[in-house]
Amino acid sequence: MRRGQTKLGPVRYMLRAEYRRGAWSGARIGRLAPWSLSPFAATLHYAQAIFEGLKARRIAGDAAAVFRLDAHAERFARSAERMGMPVLPPERFRRWVLGFVRHQQRQLAAGRALYLRPIQFASEPLLGARPATELEFALLASLVREEDVSGLRLWVERTDARACAGGIGAAKTAANYAAAMRARGVAAAHGCHDVLWLDAVDHRNVEEMGGANVAFVARDRLLTPPLGDTILDGITRRSVLALAPRVGLRVEERAVAWRELASGLRSGRISEALALGTGIGIAEIAAFRDRQRELRVRGGPVADALRRELAREQHGTGQYQWLSSV
Ligand code: PLP
Repeated sequence: MRRGQTKLGPVRYMLRAEYRRGAWSGARIGRLAPWSLSPFAATLHYAQAIFEGLKARRIAGDAAAVFRLDAHAERFARSAERMGMPVLPPERFRRWVLGFVRHQQRQLAAGRALYLRPIQFASEPLLGARPATELEFALLASLVREEDVSGLRLWVERTDARACAGGIGAAKTAANYAAAMRARGVAAAHGCHDVLWLDAVDHRNVEEMGGANVAFVARDRLLTPPLGDTILDGITRRSVLALAPRVGLRVEERAVAWRELASGLRSGRISEALALGTGIGIAEIAAFRDRQRELRVRGGPVADALRRELAREQHGTGQYQWLSSV
């Protein structure tokens, strides 16, 4: 099975703003509409483009709330800084997101979320490469139905690399996804849903997926590769690490070699493999494939237990203050 966030369709409104002459404009909410862009717009040539992915839901008492808005606002600012772009102050990011969700909140119902996709890109016409000084910001959204995901198959990529030390792997920037497309195509041709990336130096250690972080259950431990400049600091990962002790797991953030993972899956020492992301939530990985073989994951109760804990936090009945009400 692989369900997940089934799209109900894009929202027909968007929020827009621009950066010109050293300052951000105010934001306007209007109908979803195309841009008119110069063919020399820097984003088309030099890929100065960043985005975020976060969700709003209906919570207890019929209010709408955004999950971990502060963390997403800060990551958007870090991505802009890494890509040499003017930073949208996190306070303004938060205000704009809340304003847009307020505008759209009547669309929210139980079992549905509003997936929010803020983007920022360089629109300045440039022929020579330099950091652009004219940018567009937009907040787009799609209504999604949330369902548990299991049965994921991952392609273990041994040729291409997604990110390297000193590079842009920790930024949520378009270029990282472009670098991953060839391997995603190979993965799909082998019946896999996504790629498991290994480190760029010698393809030894597990890093993350194309669109999610990974964690593994080894007896009473939850193992996950440590953050650095090659892995996106996932907000779901961060939340799951905070929740793990509640389901009896000790967190170990350390390098996980592919060989250790493969032998752990074979011996049964590693019983569950989880994909962690805003889109798919906490999803169960069922198998890893490479050119020689397929390794199956036994499975166990942890994915469900963590999902229950995370759902409480997302719906306002948990312990943490992770919600921003509109
Ligand atoms: N890693 C990559 C490359 C991603 O695209 C995503 C998804 O957004 C994640 C990890 C998970 O991050 P988050 O939990 O913040 O959605």
